Amino acid sequence: MKNGNLRPAEQIKFLNDTRKHNRCVAPEEQDRPDKPEEACGVFGVVAPGREVSRLAFFALFALQHRGQESAGIAVSDDGHLTAIKDMGLVSQVFKEDILKSLSGQAAIGHVRYSTTGSTRWANAQPVCLNRNGHTLALAHNGNIVNTSELREEMGPLGFKLTSTSDSELLAAMIASHPAEDIRDAVAACMPRIKGAFSVVILSRGKVVGFRDPWGVRPLCIGRFEDGNYTLASESCALDIIGAEFLQEVKPGQMAVITAGKLELTQVVEPTRRQGFCIFEYIYFARPDSVINGLNVSQARNRMGEELAHESPVEADMVIPIPDTGTPAAIGFARASGIPYGEGLIKNRYVGRTFIQPDQNLRQHGIRVKLNPLVHAIKGKRLVVVDDSIVRGNTTHKIVKMLYDAGAIEVHLRISSPPITHSCFYGIDTATSTELIASEKTVEEIRRQVGANSLEYITLEGLQRAVGMPADRFCRACFTGRYPIDVPDSLKMSKHRFEQVEKEPVA
Ligand code: SF4
Repeated sequence: MKNGNLRPAEQIKFLNDTRKHNRCVAPEEQDRPDKPEEACGVFGVVAPGREVSRLAFFALFALQHRGQESAGIAVSDDGHLTAIKDMGLVSQVFKEDILKSLSGQAAIGHVRYSTTGSTRWANAQPVCLNRNGHTLALAHNGNIVNTSELREEMGPLGFKLTSTSDSELLAAMIASHPAEDIRDAVAACMPRIKGAFSVVILSRGKVVGFRDPWGVRPLCIGRFEDGNYTLASESCALDIIGAEFLQEVKPGQMAVITAGKLELTQVVEPTRRQGFCIFEYIYFARPDSVINGLNVSQARNRMGEELAHESPVEADMVIPIPDTGTPAAIGFARASGIPYGEGLIKNRYVGRTFIQPDQNLRQHGIRVKLNPLVHAIKGKRLVVVDDSIVRGNTTHKIVKMLYDAGAIEVHLRISSPPITHSCFYGIDTATSTELIASEKTVEEIRRQVGANSLEYITLEGLQRAVGMPADRFCRACFTGRYPIDVPDSLKMSKHRFEQVEKEPVA
């Protein structure tokens, strides 16, 4: 098929004019949180007779932790597709009147944090393209590593990409495939795509979900009491819409959902060495999600227990850096016998869209997010548990704040090993030179952050905590051993396609 007729779908109603949003709104580097930044969350459902846009809204609401920069929902109503997407949180993009206008029998949804392509409206998802005279919508979590190769393949077709994300490339490949049935098009494209991808597609009332053969990012299947099916990045999204967790989409598998029917096909053999992202258990996934049969909160409790066994210390109280450090702190307290308590209060309403403080307020910046409970920590020797240190730009502020509040000792315990390498599979962990542990020893980091002691969980301790063999996981940000080959050309910034965005692929 000649691809000149592939263009962004005409039926799509866009909430806002792209010109207003065609600007980078990424926060200033110094204001970025000292955490790996999440990738994306995806959702899909076919449920005739129900308000599918409302199901998508609540599922995306539960997946909000995976991406806070943009949100989108595409709905199919008797095969006619309508999509709405915009920058902002799910609750900012979708209001009651918008949800009511999105009626249909099937829907997909997406929340995004940019890992490839800058933070702008055109890169928000779902991506919508024409395919054989109808509209296809696609939502993607992950990062494709052979994009240059795929762009070259797409070049002779003269297809003009409108965004800079690898997800549009993925959508263009599938939309341009000549197979009549979307299942055949997906099955033909899957073996050519290398990298991390958990994808949902909405096409002619069908939802197709598929996952890379390494199984890097999660994707699970849920079932409603009425026999309809749904797909979501994490099981916490199923709970909120009343669906029961059925199983994971297996690595290399395609799940096709139609009304009351689920069809599973193993399209690509799973790789012998698997690559599920172990950081999903440490930080990304919500604690109430269950992945590979293991509850995420329980995994984090065990990480804390392992830390207590590996790096004990005499102290009066164990406190978490909330919220993500909390389950590991509970585990540390349980295993060490040191009482657990709250020492830092987090403002729950601070998100990525928060207005940045001015220069004068910046010195108090950390207190916008965290404030110490002076009466609880004064005069105490503290064990402070956090899930990770990325750049180290906020840890020393927290330690200083605790001393200023009267702590007499601060012992940091971290429930991930030191992050020494960047992620190329859909997580923004910063470039390797920005990673504090790639440049400094643990003792040097301890001195820089000003703690009395600093210890990280070992890889072995982490592995014991998740209770599964190491060859099931990607652990590359701790070891530099990438399960999927990463070409040198990719080891650049996530903005690598910006310069070609206005040209036809060549
Ligand atoms: Fe996860 Fe790290 Fe592997 Fe990226 S490099 S997929 S963050 S374990």
